[in-house]
Amino acid sequence: MNKKQMHAASPQVAEGDAVTAPAPARPAAVARASGDAAAPAPNFLRAIVADDMRTAKYGGRVVTRFPPEPNGYLHYGHAKSIILNFGLAEENNGVCHLRYDDTNPLKEEVEFEDAIAESVRWLGFDWGGHRYHASDYYDDLYRFAEWFVEQGLAYVDSQSAEEMRATRGTLTEPGIDSPYRNRSVAENLDLLRRMRAGEFPDGAHVLRLKIDMASPNVNMRDPAIYRIRHAKHHRTGNKWCIYPLYDYTHAISDALEHITHSICTLEFQDHRPLYDWVIEKLAEGGMLERPLPQQYEFARLNLTYVVLSKRRLIELVEKNEVDGWDDPRMPTIVGARRRGFTPEGFRLLAERIGVSKADSWIDMSVLEDCMRDDLNGRAERRMAVLDPVKLVIDNYPEGQTEDCEAPNHPHKPELGKRVLPLTRELWIERDDYTETPPKGYFRLTPGAEVRLRYGYIVKCVGAEKDGDGNVTAVHCTYDPDTRSGTPGADARKVKGNIHWLSAAHAVPAEVRIYDRLFKVPFPGARNPWGARSDAVAVELPSPAHRAVVAGDDDDNAEVAERNYLDDLNPDSKRVLRAFVEPALAGAPRESRFQFERHGYFVADLADHSPDAPVFNRAVTLRDSWSKP
Ligand code: ATP
Ligand code: MG
Repeated sequence: MNKKQMHAASPQVAEGDAVTAPAPARPAAVARASGDAAAPAPNFLRAIVADDMRTAKYGGRVVTRFPPEPNGYLHYGHAKSIILNFGLAEENNGVCHLRYDDTNPLKEEVEFEDAIAESVRWLGFDWGGHRYHASDYYDDLYRFAEWFVEQGLAYVDSQSAEEMRATRGTLTEPGIDSPYRNRSVAENLDLLRRMRAGEFPDGAHVLRLKIDMASPNVNMRDPAIYRIRHAKHHRTGNKWCIYPLYDYTHAISDALEHITHSICTLEFQDHRPLYDWVIEKLAEGGMLERPLPQQYEFARLNLTYVVLSKRRLIELVEKNEVDGWDDPRMPTIVGARRRGFTPEGFRLLAERIGVSKADSWIDMSVLEDCMRDDLNGRAERRMAVLDPVKLVIDNYPEGQTEDCEAPNHPHKPELGKRVLPLTRELWIERDDYTETPPKGYFRLTPGAEVRLRYGYIVKCVGAEKDGDGNVTAVHCTYDPDTRSGTPGADARKVKGNIHWLSAAHAVPAEVRIYDRLFKVPFPGARNPWGARSDAVAVELPSPAHRAVVAGDDDDNAEVAERNYLDDLNPDSKRVLRAFVEPALAGAPRESRFQFERHGYFVADLADHSPDAPVFNRAVTLRDSWSKP
């Protein structure tokens, strides 16, 4: 991503910008969003895979995997990983496995597994029967553990967790050998089997690989591969009371599934030597087949104005800061779906931000632009009045109804037209009338003329007010010769063009206006706004802050800079009593529309019904967040 893109923000909506046609979409984006067969942009992973195909390193196979831990719902960052892994497989006629990394019996749940599968499917991908669990391999993993012991490559360590931490060394100092490091093979095997048989309490022993306590890479300092955990696992029940650890499990699972390209985020770069060591040894011993998988790392998605960490998201849900995992403000895939975002928008995002090996931040406006560009192409146009006030056309016959025709999509005549009934009393937006117009205000003000979209030109003659001075009805007169689409209607030009609904026909609806969850780009950072200038990229927050948003700070007070919850946006959700076109009440749940002049909206997945329509705002028509 280049610096320009970071701030590729559209201008703020100008006051008086009454004719609000949707922002023109960038042609390239539209082409890609609508499935144009443009060649995918090159990136280092596509290049590696292409190279391996050319040299037939894996006999022309591409097998990737997406390995979530089923301990929460997927977030936007996972979407990047899913699109990358499934996308690479798809582009090369390969397959991508969905593998649950369920090695922690305490945190994982079936509910999460189902939601994860559903999210992958929603993004448009199919694992084609390749749905696996790390726990499928527990027997193999254990068998291999005994093999490592027999080879003298693993030992049972009986130090306490604190002792092990204390002897691990630092980045600059080597570790210290455990006093148990030279146990005999027979003793190790006996202890391991008794660990498995449940003879010891949690924490009494661990099984460690015997690699090198002096390695400059701390991951190679005799990493633990099995620990005792007397806990029931959601799939294997009480069969096991020892559980394998991540690095060991992950490498072997990849190899057993004949993964070719094992793609993960940068923080695993230092784990790669261990990954290679484990599967290389097993292959040398004839326990695994070659060719072995190869691990590659890419930069995780970091997005401003949200936190992308399951731990943080769990906290938001548990503290009731949001309405559950699928709250449209949550940066989860289930939240995005309810928000009205599209799978195609996420794919567009993945293409625009690309894949790199350098850590960077993507501004939320880039994601919003992708959704906007995709929705602009696909969403039919409708009218909705979100803050209604009556407009009375004084010279329009009472009881008369006229059908005005409105195109469903300005650039897609094939989507047809719909009828908007026009009557004497209409609903218009409260802020489309003012007695004291600021400069450049082209809407209703006494004496001014505007066009009622797809209808007539009307002239404002004044307004009624209640005792507190609030406008209760605006009055106007219309010119019968100016109806849109009739000969000569365009002869008279007016600058303002407002939307409206017939009061007799409009349907009340709940409209939920969602905005960014956090009010600052870097929630929890000491300088949460970063450097704001359109000329330079956002100043990266400190590594400590990165740990906070990535959920890696372990609640360490020294690392946490400020409480990110203090940066929640108090206006991220507003609920309005609005009016919508009658046909919108019958719209199927999850159908998406552009409400003219307002933005893109979706019929709520859970709450929308013909009797009580509910629409969520996905995104505005233009970016109103970037600094002027
Ligand atoms: P979190 O840190 O939010 O808990 P995680 O890495 O623990 O995420 P997993 O379920 O272990 O979540 O991740 C599944 C896959 O998604 C991993 O391959 C991981 O690298 C990838 N992933 C997680 N977060 C991101 C991100 N922000 N951008 C890209 N990929 C990500
Ligand atoms: Mg994880």
